[in-house]
Amino acid sequence: MKIIIFGAPGVGKGTQAKILSAKLNIPHISTGDILREAIKSQTELGKKAKTIVDSGELVPDDIVGEIVKETLTSTKCKNGFILDGFPRNVYQAELLESMLKEISNFGLILIKLNADDEIIVKRLSSRRVCSNCGNILNEAEITNDFICPVCHAKNSYYKRSDDEESVIRKRLMIYHEATAPVFNFYKNKAAIIEVNGTHSIEEVTKEILDKLSFRQS
Ligand code: AMP
Repeated sequence: MKIIIFGAPGVGKGTQAKILSAKLNIPHISTGDILREAIKSQTELGKKAKTIVDSGELVPDDIVGEIVKETLTSTKCKNGFILDGFPRNVYQAELLESMLKEISNFGLILIKLNADDEIIVKRLSSRRVCSNCGNILNEAEITNDFICPVCHAKNSYYKRSDDEESVIRKRLMIYHEATAPVFNFYKNKAAIIEVNGTHSIEEVTKEILDKLSFRQS
């Protein structure tokens, strides 16, 4: 299955992509995660990307395009993938189209998660991420000497530098201007599934899986 998980920053793409990746047994490819990992390891890519990612701007298309091409043509994606955070603009969607022509364009599914901007600002401002396993919690759930419920790391939760309110609002603006038009690009090129992203994690997963199985039956 070839899936693009689509929607504004903070709408729950990463959370749902991780769950779907485990349930459907296809890899979760997050360009944001790949860039953050490169920044953490201070690779050449990471050094180039750091200030851009911290400010909420988009990393140049050729850099991200290369990362995605390398990943999609690797053997781990031979049975499909869930792309999260790419394509971020129409040019990247065109890049992806040419990459998929080389593999197979067949059966692309776009899952769009919807939520209002103000809900997203609230969610992202209080989002905390485990530096060890990437699990996401709300700041209200984290206490002193907190142990990660997933990987058991101690005091590992941090606030992403791009989850400050001013940066969140800039990311939302870029989403509406550059990324939202990608949805129209796919209207006649992919099967579209739309889900309300403000429901609970379990409800959103259930709705996606129901709609996916309906499509396949
Ligand atoms: P995300 O984790 O998807 O919210 O991405 C975090 C940041 O990584 C974004 O705000 C961008 O700076 C950068 N980024 C991730 N994916 C892309 C992409 N497809 N194109 C350009 N920049 C990206």
